[in-house]
Amino acid sequence: MEFKKSHKLYNKGLVNLVGAVNSPVRAFASVGGNPLFIEKAKGSKIKDVDGNSFIDLVLSYGPMILGHRHPKVQKAITKALKNGYSFGASTANEIKLAKIVCDAFPGMDKVRFVNSGTEAVLSGIRLARAYTGKDKIIKFAGCYHGHQDSLLVAAGSGLATLSLPGSKGVPEGAVKNTLIANYNDLDSVKAHFEKHDDIAGVILEPVAGNMGVVIPQDDFLKELKAFLESKGALLIVDEVMTGFRSKFGGAQELLGVEADITCLGKVIGGGFPVGAYGARNEIMENVAPLGGMYQAGTLSGNPIAMAAGISTLTELKKQNPYEFFDKVAAIIERSLLTSAQKYGVELTVNRFGSMINPFFTSKHVTNFEEAQSSDTKKFAVFFWEMIKNGVFLPPSQFEAWFLSSALSSKDIEKIKKAIDNSMEAVS
Ligand code: PLP
Repeated sequence: MEFKKSHKLYNKGLVNLVGAVNSPVRAFASVGGNPLFIEKAKGSKIKDVDGNSFIDLVLSYGPMILGHRHPKVQKAITKALKNGYSFGASTANEIKLAKIVCDAFPGMDKVRFVNSGTEAVLSGIRLARAYTGKDKIIKFAGCYHGHQDSLLVAAGSGLATLSLPGSKGVPEGAVKNTLIANYNDLDSVKAHFEKHDDIAGVILEPVAGNMGVVIPQDDFLKELKAFLESKGALLIVDEVMTGFRSKFGGAQELLGVEADITCLGKVIGGGFPVGAYGARNEIMENVAPLGGMYQAGTLSGNPIAMAAGISTLTELKKQNPYEFFDKVAAIIERSLLTSAQKYGVELTVNRFGSMINPFFTSKHVTNFEEAQSSDTKKFAVFFWEMIKNGVFLPPSQFEAWFLSSALSSKDIEKIKKAIDNSMEAVS
């Protein structure tokens, strides 16, 4: 397999782009080698500029749940393009997408669309503070909520990939109201409440996809919600990754928990830049123009993005691929574990719906510390072997693999074979 054109573009890109990328994990920093440059994608496959074709388990880090260029989505976007790209005034499609989203999340009466997951979360946090009149927010180590200052501490995703404890350029004042707790450890949350009486709420990924895949144990979320209720603090659930991916109603539906504030992104834009935050009326009424919490966006509710979101979610509801995802993830899990055992590789696999991740460790992974015990060098070998075997994975031990409903049984067989070959190379 040759990567000559990607290599050439990488060197060219280094001149005017930082690391030749526009988002750090894309630089392949933790797996070595040059990043791939993509030419196009269709269905379950993605093709690089050298003509290499891969089964895509990155899916743009989650949004492309139907696979690439689904005909219905393509048709909706093409139709929307004919009417104009952005108006700075409201459109009927914003109301339509808002209804689809609110209907999917029982705890959400109203929603506000923004342009990214980062914006969704920073607005959700501002709203929690506006509603409670309190400043402190608890986040969990290893959870990633976008790149806003106040949450760039002990974060997963790219920071975990690059082994960064936080970000330079974030002033101490910006994180002075951020408290860190351990995932799956309610006592670590309670300890903060014993010390502080100005905690607005707790934000978390209901399934943490940004430290690999880490699943909430037993009744962790339910107990957390009940505890927060008893303290008058809010549960802010960041479903940017899991929303419409774990289930149509997100991880909340699957885990039986209702957030006070829900943050969304990725799938709701069908591959276009959309984020959203929503809550019940009494909370959302604090947002301008109804209330005094200000939040705005020139391109928010963009008509092309709304058309992509509506068509993606409508098709997703029709397909209802969640059982399929579960089955495929179970097959991949079995394949990973069988090959690991065959070649004597220490491996733990976590999966939740259409998200799956193998950790190169024998430890049970329930939090960030355990995730970090993975052998990232082994992951790097595995990653490149998977590439050579035609499967595109996230180039990091701390990102989830995503499944699309476009995967065929032939694709699944190919993934299994690639896993076996790659595991042998790791051993
Ligand atoms: N929250 C979660 C759980 C995410 O996974 C991400 C991105 O990966 C974000 C927030 C930030 O979203 P965006 O990259 O669209 O700003």
